[in-house]
Amino acid sequence: MDFRFSDEDENFRSELRRWLEANLPSGHRKNAFAIEFFANEVGEEWEKRVAWHKTMHSAGWIAIQYPTQYGGRGASLTQQYIYDEELNHLGAPQLVNGQGIGLVGPTLMHWGTEEQRRRYLPKMLSAEEIWCQGYSEPGSGSDLASLQTRAVEDGDDFVVNGQKVWTSDAHHADMCFLLVRTDPTAPKHKGISYLLVNMHSPGVTVRPLVQMTGDRGFNEMFFEDVRVPKRNLVGGKNNGWLVALTSLMYERRARDMTAIVLELATLARLVDKQGASTDARAPLAGSKTKPGNSAWEDSRVRQRIAEFACEAWAIRYVGLRQLSRQLKGLPPGPESSIQKLAFSELNLRIQKFAMELLGAYGQMTHQAPLAIDDGKWSYRMLAARGMIIGAGTSEIQRNVIGERVLGLPRG
Ligand SMILES: Cc1cc2nc3c(=O)[nH]c(=O)nc-3n(C[C@H](O)[C@H](O)[C@H](O)COP(=O)(O)OP(=O)(O)OC[C@H]3O[C@@H](n4cnc5c(N)ncnc54)[C@H](O)[C@@H]3O)c2cc1C
Repeated sequence: MDFRFSDEDENFRSELRRWLEANLPSGHRKNAFAIEFFANEVGEEWEKRVAWHKTMHSAGWIAIQYPTQYGGRGASLTQQYIYDEELNHLGAPQLVNGQGIGLVGPTLMHWGTEEQRRRYLPKMLSAEEIWCQGYSEPGSGSDLASLQTRAVEDGDDFVVNGQKVWTSDAHHADMCFLLVRTDPTAPKHKGISYLLVNMHSPGVTVRPLVQMTGDRGFNEMFFEDVRVPKRNLVGGKNNGWLVALTSLMYERRARDMTAIVLELATLARLVDKQGASTDARAPLAGSKTKPGNSAWEDSRVRQRIAEFACEAWAIRYVGLRQLSRQLKGLPPGPESSIQKLAFSELNLRIQKFAMELLGAYGQMTHQAPLAIDDGKWSYRMLAARGMIIGAGTSEIQRNVIGERVLGLPRG
């Protein structure tokens, strides 16, 4: 691949960077602590993220990949990559409504009616309506097609009963894209439908699940005789599996983009290129966590960091190869599973290493008076497990690589 960006792409980068420099409040920048911690909680942090999202939206910097008639800029894949890189580089707050804009919006462009697009896309982009993804159930995660939530036709509505779980952002959500079983007699992939459900409907209950990080980022959802108008069906009755796969394809694309920049950013926070620093908020390897020396002065520490850096760069190149394939109009290749497996496992190893550097300080959590870096590393260590599970577990990625890349027989 050619690693140089075109003049058009460089102009796009300059325009975005100029806008960010002028509009991103200085208190929000490089503030990795505030933006990572409890990012999905209700309250001040969430409000800050919504406010930043709205600022970007009013300047036309949300959903840049969407066609202009649906509120985007028609940006190319390369420009989306540049966009992620620039936001990450400046440490901008996380945007909101990723499940809506990243997953259900593009799905509506493929499968939805024009009426559905006009009704839902504008409020999705402006974050007036927050979306959540109702796929997983207590007995259906990796084997998603075994889902049991039922929808039965009654006049102009479907009546939904069942339970979903691990639903990110359901506590903020106004709308849910929900997978339901509409034909229990059909083979499991053939009897599923994809509905758009108003979360404020009678019969919807959301209960927060507290993670080991202390976050309340995801939830259980219960549906009890919830009426959903038939006009909210997407892609036809019993055709929901194909519609769901479209959303998952977009989820994978967004994840691939993130992976390209994520681990290098994590490493940058771990290692201070200037060497030793006495500032407790300096990147971890540079700060003095034991009397006299910084960890960075230990050659074994530097070697470990160098190994991580090699892996992170390799992941970046796998990601760029994936991008390159798609720019040539080819379908996403096996790189996606390799990348998901590699970056989520590397992330966990980096966080474990940070714990080694911290020693006993690693037990200090957020707001503990002696916590180094505000307890960020112990938070990230605990959060790293979720990345290995969400959007397809490591075992599932290994199965995909074994069967589809290496051609091994199914176990
Ligand atoms: C941070 C986070 C956010 C999430 N957000 C959402 C959301 O917004 N909406 C939503 O619908 N879901 C969400 N999920 C759920 C997620 O999609 C599921 O957790 C994931 O698909 C795994 O399903 P499960 O938890 O039921 O585990 P299971 O599928 O029950 O797996 C349990 C264990 O068995 C292993 N396993 C299962 N099948 C196989 C196999 N065939 N071969 C080898 N090993 C296997 C798994 O790897 C795992 O270790 C989220 C999860 C996380 C962690």
